[in-house]
Amino acid sequence: MGTRSVVVVGAGVFGAWSALRLARDGWQVTLVDAYGPANGRASSADHSRVVRAGYGRDEIYTRWATASLTGWHWLAKTSGHRLVEESGVLFLGAHGSPHLDETAAVFRDLGVEHQRLSAAEVAARFPQLGVIGLGDALYEPRAGAIRARQAVAAAVAVARAHGVEYLTARVRPLDETQTTPTVETTDGTRLEADRYVLAAGPWLAGLLPLAVGGRIRVTRQELLYFGVPAGDARFALDALPVWIDFGAGFYGIPDLDAHGFKLGIDRHGPPIDPDAAERIVHPEVVATAREFLARRFPALAAAPVVDARVCQYENTATGDFLIDTHPTWEQVWIVGGGSGHGFKHGPAVGTHVADLLAGRAAVEPRFALAGKSSTAARAVY
Ligand SMILES: Cc1cc2nc3c(=O)[nH]c(=O)nc-3n(C[C@H](O)[C@H](O)[C@H](O)COP(=O)(O)OP(=O)(O)OC[C@H]3O[C@@H](n4cnc5c(N)ncnc54)[C@H](O)[C@@H]3O)c2cc1C
Repeated sequence: MGTRSVVVVGAGVFGAWSALRLARDGWQVTLVDAYGPANGRASSADHSRVVRAGYGRDEIYTRWATASLTGWHWLAKTSGHRLVEESGVLFLGAHGSPHLDETAAVFRDLGVEHQRLSAAEVAARFPQLGVIGLGDALYEPRAGAIRARQAVAAAVAVARAHGVEYLTARVRPLDETQTTPTVETTDGTRLEADRYVLAAGPWLAGLLPLAVGGRIRVTRQELLYFGVPAGDARFALDALPVWIDFGAGFYGIPDLDAHGFKLGIDRHGPPIDPDAAERIVHPEVVATAREFLARRFPALAAAPVVDARVCQYENTATGDFLIDTHPTWEQVWIVGGGSGHGFKHGPAVGTHVADLLAGRAAVEPRFALAGKSSTAARAVY
């Protein structure tokens, strides 16, 4: 087999890692993005993202997150950037939370280090965290935070060092009524290749309206960074782990790189247009966040917002990824549906895409297009 060519559309975390792994497999890769790698509109764009292997009973994501952590460390070493902080993740839950029990069971089966903590143990270990109403907790030490935008930039830089050609251009929506795909940019340039990987995140439904339209719901999500009190080291990443409270719908990353104490709202927001949306946080969100802080991190209840971001999730109905071929074009692969939790899995997604294109792997049934309903029924956390 001679060198085969592939065009990857989208240089977010999924496209960047797909391009990198395909190039290492010997493919001639062109990576195209409308606005640039991890640009301000992309889902991969923030300063940080949570990395964790805990996923309830969804063992596949535990496996992929564990494999990905090795991939991230490889990328950090190769690029010379410090990307991951294994500061631990603390899952907070109600008493007898099935999610924590299921997470612990998968951790035991797969040998992932973890500790069960009672509310009293959490209070003793992390006194800056208020435990009123807290039932139970699970601590995953080999988890934490990744410098997200920097990590995508590093993946693209290493991909280019492996021969990937990067291009800033927008690909037009594909005409899915044709028997063969035509992939062209808005200036009319045709991008010819043996294979296409469409990793356009929240834009996937627009790119493939017939195949994907209605199967990915793009929701507005808000993130707030609160300034920590002066001279107070209790909210630094080495003093407090990343924490997730799925029941309350909040999660957070302590003061990474002195950027502020990050609070994310995980409940799905209203629909958003990723191209045109004004990314200004609604004041009601700040008020809701403060109510939560007053309970869980009382010392920050009155802290000022020092930064804020409006991002978007690209949700499949259940939250499972979408990684499959196009229903009529076997040379076109659809890679997306990160659904608010995809970032950490970038390396595993890239490996899987390279395996699929080489015929070394089959489509994972959970990620198949056929199973993707247009009715929201979130099941992955
Ligand atoms: C607020 C928020 C918090 C999150 N928190 C976490 C977390 O803590 N941990 C975690 O693991 N995950 C998290 N996620 C999820 C994760 O960030 C996403 O699943 C992941 O970034 C999706 O990456 P992607 O490459 O599919 O999409 P994107 O990053 O959106 O990349 C798609 C790219 O395609 C380009 N593109 C689109 N259309 C075209 C076109 N026609 N032509 C050319 N280029 C095009 C875009 O410019 C963009 O750069 C979070 C997401 C959000 C929004």
